[in-house]
Amino acid sequence: MRKLPCYPRPYADELFSSWFLRLAHANVQRLPHFTFRITGDSYFWRFDPDRFLRPGLAETLAEVTGLSVDAIHALTLRRYEGKVVTQLPPRAPVRWIMPLYIQGYKRRRPGLSYCPACLREALFLRTHWRLSFVTVCERHACPLQGACPRCQAPYAPQRNDLGLGSDWSTQPEPPFGFCPECRLDLRDTPPRDADPEVLRLQAWLLGGAVSGVLPWPGQGEVPSLEGFDVLHQLLAVVLRQGVQGHLTETCGLAGPERPPQRRNRSFEDFDLPDRRLLLRQLAFLLEDWPHRLLRTCEAAGVTKEPLVVNFRPVPPWYEAVADRLSRANGRRPYKRVPLEPHLTLEELAARRDAAPTPAEQRRWDLIWQYAQQEEPAVLPFVRATGFARNTVVEVVRRYNQGGLESIENWWRGKKNPRRRLLTPEQEEELRRVLARGYMTNAEMADWVEARTGTRPDRSTLWMYRRGVNYHTMEGRRAGT
Ligand SMILES: [Zn+2]
Ligand SMILES: [Zn+2]
Repeated sequence: MRKLPCYPRPYADELFSSWFLRLAHANVQRLPHFTFRITGDSYFWRFDPDRFLRPGLAETLAEVTGLSVDAIHALTLRRYEGKVVTQLPPRAPVRWIMPLYIQGYKRRRPGLSYCPACLREALFLRTHWRLSFVTVCERHACPLQGACPRCQAPYAPQRNDLGLGSDWSTQPEPPFGFCPECRLDLRDTPPRDADPEVLRLQAWLLGGAVSGVLPWPGQGEVPSLEGFDVLHQLLAVVLRQGVQGHLTETCGLAGPERPPQRRNRSFEDFDLPDRRLLLRQLAFLLEDWPHRLLRTCEAAGVTKEPLVVNFRPVPPWYEAVADRLSRANGRRPYKRVPLEPHLTLEELAARRDAAPTPAEQRRWDLIWQYAQQEEPAVLPFVRATGFARNTVVEVVRRYNQGGLESIENWWRGKKNPRRRLLTPEQEEELRRVLARGYMTNAEMADWVEARTGTRPDRSTLWMYRRGVNYHTMEGRRAGT
């Protein structure tokens, strides 16, 4: 393909789609025509070209503009690979990158943000406007916008020259400054002041997105990918009901006003104003790292689990912080599991001392010890006594539900030994038969039925085959 008459250089931090629009405009061509000529793809704008360039497209653009292929790829969101995102799949949702909510040429929701004051200075799209944590303009200290302030149409400048849009090639400037629905000049939006805490947080994060390292308080520099992983996890913690309650009510930090309906909502599902509020809450949690976070989690009853769930690999420095919640210095409230007042402490001791078998004695002893806790709960009891957790849960449950009977007659109604069909002599005979050669289950069932008149079920057959008394895990192991 021949070189284009005009080929404007990309601005620093310019997004690929922005440069593409400026190319069309500089060459006085309508965007649909220009797009088809360069890409041969009528559906080009129905996908997100800033995430993924079809094979060969960068090469074609290099040919017609003289820019290097690498420089063209660097205009896409791939510049954040290895710094903010591990990998950038063409379409799947990925954390920290805002989706465009494309529907044909339209947008269902705002995804791309813009700064009115930045557009006033230079008409192009900044790549960092696609990052979900970028919600304010550092340059102008004002909040970013995602939609037209008059008609609420999501910001999508290429639509001015696509579909029902007009012929923009004759306009003096590229179409970044106008609402595609109502044609409001978006550069006129009066800026409001941005929250300084959000500005500070964002500057820190953008630094990491560019350099690949994040200076973490008390931790030195961490790889930015690792830091971004931790921060996204912390945003999920911020979104927990208990934490939201604590942050809004006790700490007076406003929370999201329009939570998304999606069940597994993530930070990227929130719109711009709500993301700003969540980042303000995140900045608050990060202060005095990690003490503010730990205090908040303890106050909100959050354990270690939400801090590390679905998070692999957990950076050791972060896991060490999360671990402090699992210990929580014994102050974290355990789930109370009180005993039913069937017997007094003395009566329990008497039962224990009179128990006919060591196993029953052990059960009574467990209950007797359990009953002496001030705050009856399973976990601290297990830690203090060394009883197996499952045993404690089971004994306490059965004592509470079934009373004394169920402790005395532990096996009744439980793993009831199967009634044996064969006499000991018949069993001995069967064992000899089996030792001579293999019998199928059907053959064995016939053999037993012929001698007892009852056809054995499969587990009874299994029992005889293994020569064990019970169909239990012990038997299973003993037989193999
Ligand atoms: Zn700005
Ligand atoms: Zn509008």
